Amino acid sequence: MTSTLPSSIPGQLAPVSRRIRERLESAGVPFLANDNIAEHLNEGELDQLEIEVAGKVRELLRSLVIDIDNDHNTEETAERVARMYLHEVFKGRYHPQPKIASFPNVKKLDEIYTVGPITVRSACSHHLVPILGNCWIGIKPGERVIGLSKFSRVADWVFSRPHIQEEAVMILADEIERLCEPQGLAILVKAQHYCMKWRGVKEPQTSMVNSIVRGDFRHDSSLKAEFFELVKQQESMLG
Ligand SMILES: [Zn+2]
Repeated sequence: MTSTLPSSIPGQLAPVSRRIRERLESAGVPFLANDNIAEHLNEGELDQLEIEVAGKVRELLRSLVIDIDNDHNTEETAERVARMYLHEVFKGRYHPQPKIASFPNVKKLDEIYTVGPITVRSACSHHLVPILGNCWIGIKPGERVIGLSKFSRVADWVFSRPHIQEEAVMILADEIERLCEPQGLAILVKAQHYCMKWRGVKEPQTSMVNSIVRGDFRHDSSLKAEFFELVKQQESMLG
């Protein structure tokens, strides 16, 4: 199919994914693998997407020459995979950000603190296999603060998309800045990539570590060092 085809054949509704894509394109909204498109979905479209994706997964299994009509193990795999993608492992694309309230920093706290390890689960954009790891967040509070557990919620939402690790960390930093406008923000993620463990070079021990520092953590090297020291302490407490 090419984009020159009419969006719907008379009497036949275009697939829901195509309607959504056309809507996003005409609004100039990006829909890369790690973008969230929740606010551009109409009521009921997520349910329709689930049906469409299940159909496509069923075709994928057929193309892999798996006898889904007679194999009791894969009979409902297509439906499970569709639900898993849309509502679990890639929910950060289709579901809105969980509601996170921020509060004024009445005590004017300006000491840094770190939260972690927060478990992060994602999938690589290249192979759609898991990326599993830990995340530490360092905050020097600004005008507003959010509850500690909220960092896990926002990280889970951001990571539940197909990603590359570097971009996941950047997107998480943007969201945290939007939520509580800290004076300084540092994030470190250490993760295992199953595209290296399960396939490819099959290197089971390798992990990828990356970090981002913004605001005061960027300008003040002692603050930055303090963050990495706190992370190291928390990590060694885990053994
Ligand atoms: Zn990969």
